[in-house]
Amino acid sequence: MSRVVLASGNRGKLKEMQQVLAGTGFELLLQTDFEIVDAEETGLSFVENALIKARHASRETGLPALADDSGLSVDALGGQPGIYSARYSGEGATDAKNNAKLLSALESCDDRRATFVCVLAYVRYAEDPLPLICQGLWRGEILREARGENGFGYDPLFYVADLDCTSAQLPAEVKNRNSHRGRALRAFVEQWHSSISS
Ligand code: IMP
Repeated sequence: MSRVVLASGNRGKLKEMQQVLAGTGFELLLQTDFEIVDAEETGLSFVENALIKARHASRETGLPALADDSGLSVDALGGQPGIYSARYSGEGATDAKNNAKLLSALESCDDRRATFVCVLAYVRYAEDPLPLICQGLWRGEILREARGENGFGYDPLFYVADLDCTSAQLPAEVKNRNSHRGRALRAFVEQWHSSISS
């Protein structure tokens, strides 16, 4: 088993990632279980923020670290909220406030196209000069009202045409099979195996 610290305090994310990584030889540990405070996400892109978080978690624990930076990129908003997805509605942001702000930003807009983005960064040690970087994208559209109770964040507004429902209407395993995070994680497992066999 490879012990890897996940640079996150989000148990929901840990669970989702553990489901995808089941049987692949990774044991994911949550960074908050090491009592580490979050790194400041000062990057201008998903990849920069994922690397900042992974290096920080590895530095603090002495273990290899995996970080995910994810968000929603809306075409008609020039890619916003993007890396600011979690804090879109400002100080004291919640999923409900973020979703309300998104609905009002798109109120008079017919172009509802959006993409969920996930970038993963894996470092073997804090100063690793050759991190593994993987990304997963999931395309959809922003509805005009929420649908579904599962998931988190923007899931109730994110409609996926080929599944004819929002990501909040999907059971966890179906979301994992399709989602940006699931795709990025599968790419990571593949890259990791080829990095140790080459
Ligand atoms: P992070 O935890 O800093 O990567 O922020 C990710 C933010 O993007 C979350 O707080 C959500 O608002 C949004 N997000 C990322 N992935 C998802 C998802 O799978 N469903 C819904 N919202 C997501």
